[in-house]
Amino acid sequence: MPLHINTPLIRSSALSKSLNKNVWLKIDALQPSGSFKMRGVALACETYLKQGAKRFISSSGGNAGLAVATSAKILNVPSIIVVPRTTSITAINLLQLEDAEVIVKGDSWQEANEYALSLITDSDAFIHPFDDPLLWKGHATLIDEIVNAEIQPDVIVLSVGGGGLLAGVAEGLTRNKLTHIPIIAIETEGTASLHLAIQHNKPTSLKEIRSIATSLGAKQICDQAFYVTKTHHIHSILVSDQEAIHACKAFLADHRIVVEPACGASLACIYSNKDILDPYNNILVIVCGGSTMSAEHILSL
Ligand SMILES: *Cc1c(COP(=O)(O)O)cnc(C)c1O
Repeated sequence: MPLHINTPLIRSSALSKSLNKNVWLKIDALQPSGSFKMRGVALACETYLKQGAKRFISSSGGNAGLAVATSAKILNVPSIIVVPRTTSITAINLLQLEDAEVIVKGDSWQEANEYALSLITDSDAFIHPFDDPLLWKGHATLIDEIVNAEIQPDVIVLSVGGGGLLAGVAEGLTRNKLTHIPIIAIETEGTASLHLAIQHNKPTSLKEIRSIATSLGAKQICDQAFYVTKTHHIHSILVSDQEAIHACKAFLADHRIVVEPACGASLACIYSNKDILDPYNNILVIVCGGSTMSAEHILSL
């Protein structure tokens, strides 16, 4: 039994009506950890446990860390999550709810990550937030579930941070012989690391990250995400923070589900009816979720 769940796949009446197309939602906001990260992270944790790991270590105060803590608790393995001082009390509380040991260290993610790496012993597994083939293999189950539900989208819309979700969805399309289905890869303007990589024709580091969509804030995409831009049909599209926030609010009103702006970015492609959608009639959006913001916080933005 995998640790992630087979999430609901529904046709959105509100979005389908406003676009006059079929809009399908794969609602990974309902994973036990609150985001799609549960898929790949749980597979990685299970695999490392089988290989003898006695403890999991992560340096993410966001959805990746939460997926590590949730997986560790289910597997009855201790976890250490090192987070920088900028991490919210809400995020720390969520991690502690899963019995993770939370260590607050440093002023930036880089410092927290360095400390986390310094803790690793031979019996520990370090779980990366996006750059590990086990993560992509786990995320690929999203596509298996869509195929099993007998839904045939003609395009898939998803958000890109470090590119783990993109790499996983591409792997899922490949293993289901659906590589002809294009992917619309969404970033906010301030987290456009995939967009930059495509412009420079290689993974390239952003000078700075400036966006409300903090879960998309990887300075550079992983090599595998760049590689899939060569093997799959990927459209890289940017949305503004304002569009992402608006989409979170509209989605809360339409579907009564709270998602982070990182996920709102994908929904913004639909709510803003971007031109890129024009050729497509059956659109599937991966509602990737995110647990770091409350409804009150979203509505106050
Ligand atoms: C991690 C995350 C993303 C981005 O995923 P990557 O694999 O880093 O590209 C998008 N949305 C949410 C809610 C996330 O937690």
